[in-house]
Amino acid sequence: KELSSGQVRQMFLDFFKSKGHSVEPSASLVPVNDPTLLWINSGVATLKKYFDGSVVPENPRITNAQKSIRTNDIENVGKTARHHTMFEMLGNFSIGDYFKKEAIHWAWEFLTDEKWMAFDPEKLYVTVYPKDTEAKRIWHEEVGLPLDHIVEIEDNFWDIGAGPSGPDTEIFYDRGEEFNDLAADDPENYPGGENERYLEIWNLVFSEFNHKPDDTYEPLPHKNIDTGMGLERMVSIVQNAPTNFETDLFMPIIKEVETLSGKFQYGDAPQTDISFKVIADHIRALAFAIGDGALPSNEGRGYVLRRLLRRAVMHGKKLGIDQAFLYKLVPVVGKIMDSYYPEILEQQEFIEKVIRTEEERFHETINEGLEILTQVIEKVKAEKKDTLSGEDIFKLYDTYGFPVELTEEVAEDEGLKVDHAGFEAQMQAQRERARAARSTDMSMGVQSALLTEIKVDSKFVGYANYETESELLV
Ligand code: ATP
Ligand code: MG
Ligand code: MG
Ligand code: MG
Repeated sequence: KELSSGQVRQMFLDFFKSKGHSVEPSASLVPVNDPTLLWINSGVATLKKYFDGSVVPENPRITNAQKSIRTNDIENVGKTARHHTMFEMLGNFSIGDYFKKEAIHWAWEFLTDEKWMAFDPEKLYVTVYPKDTEAKRIWHEEVGLPLDHIVEIEDNFWDIGAGPSGPDTEIFYDRGEEFNDLAADDPENYPGGENERYLEIWNLVFSEFNHKPDDTYEPLPHKNIDTGMGLERMVSIVQNAPTNFETDLFMPIIKEVETLSGKFQYGDAPQTDISFKVIADHIRALAFAIGDGALPSNEGRGYVLRRLLRRAVMHGKKLGIDQAFLYKLVPVVGKIMDSYYPEILEQQEFIEKVIRTEEERFHETINEGLEILTQVIEKVKAEKKDTLSGEDIFKLYDTYGFPVELTEEVAEDEGLKVDHAGFEAQMQAQRERARAARSTDMSMGVQSALLTEIKVDSKFVGYANYETESELLV
């Protein structure tokens, strides 16, 4: 049955409401009273106060749909079928109440029952932690999942090095053999070990140990459940879409970008499709983050926004869009999300203004860079050379914020080559200078013990991870 994204979100919340959970609204993407996190990156991130015991919830069963941002996935966007910078995580949580058995049974019921998602059980696979024989037993003996649909994976243990930790079980959907041929960027993440045929949709974490400083694990007095399901991935299955993008969450944005481009259509070619996807993804992150009070700037959170905006502008250029356009997508995003997130349309004018101003400023930067580049090209030609030096490219990049890919494009139009190796050497030298300058200060490690980040690969590693500001530019 074909459901809208709004219906899938609501069904999830209704399902867990029917199991005694209180529905909590999505919290702001900007963490409140939590200096350890750059962005809210999962459903549990906003519920830390309950998990660490500092606040006792009225109801130990909670469910939510939480806007989340993961900067570690920026490079994946548009390349994999399943990653976004901003996405919605649907979750159910038990604060010392129910545990493994209920969590697994309810997940199965929601996914396969006729009244809910009605997925074909044959299509579902799960991974378990090898030592978690209990989870395997529940999946196999109680749920009835055949053993060849249960894969043991050593990685299925959630642990941030201290505090609550425990095994998890992840649920995958088999999208069919035709997906075997897709480029695999991330094969180790898949039980099939090949590609995006097996789509990870839901992660159930059984938080049952306390990881102690002496590296031993002691059973927790109160065991917790923390789950996260990607709404966009669920919707791609329900709407039979090859990637998360051919769904009602993204297609209206992509259609508008087609109109703004006038030259390219979605589906024309893989390279331009990536540009459509990146723009559709990044504008959501920008609209929501700005709606939640973050602003583009030169550091931290603001720099992430600046970087997202500049990437989107550059992809716009690839589609032949040469003036500010992202701000025009804000009402489209607002309309798609309005039923659950009215905050975008409510602040439409403000969000548009922030984005437009930032876009126009970046275009100025580009224009200034183009002038300098023209001078450089004249110089190179006058010297009867055929290659732009690594130093020149680096200076344009570092001092003027001029994107390298643009330098290359312009140079090629002028019949010139660019010295990639020379540029890389300059980048490397700068990284080393930055590292030396940093040596002692730059406290990286606010990473407080408890539930700072839920998944190893989404860990906020601190600003020190950004070697230099220019590295983030595009
Ligand atoms: P993947 O292995 O696909 O990167 P993950 O294991 O990093 O996903 P979790 O940290 O387990 O993801 O998050 C729980 C769920 O949230 C995932 O099962 C997935 O459905 C969804 N999810 C995670 N990261 C993203 C993202 N960048 N974009 C969209 N959905 C995501
Ligand atoms: Mg995973
Ligand atoms: Mg996972
Ligand atoms: Mg991931």
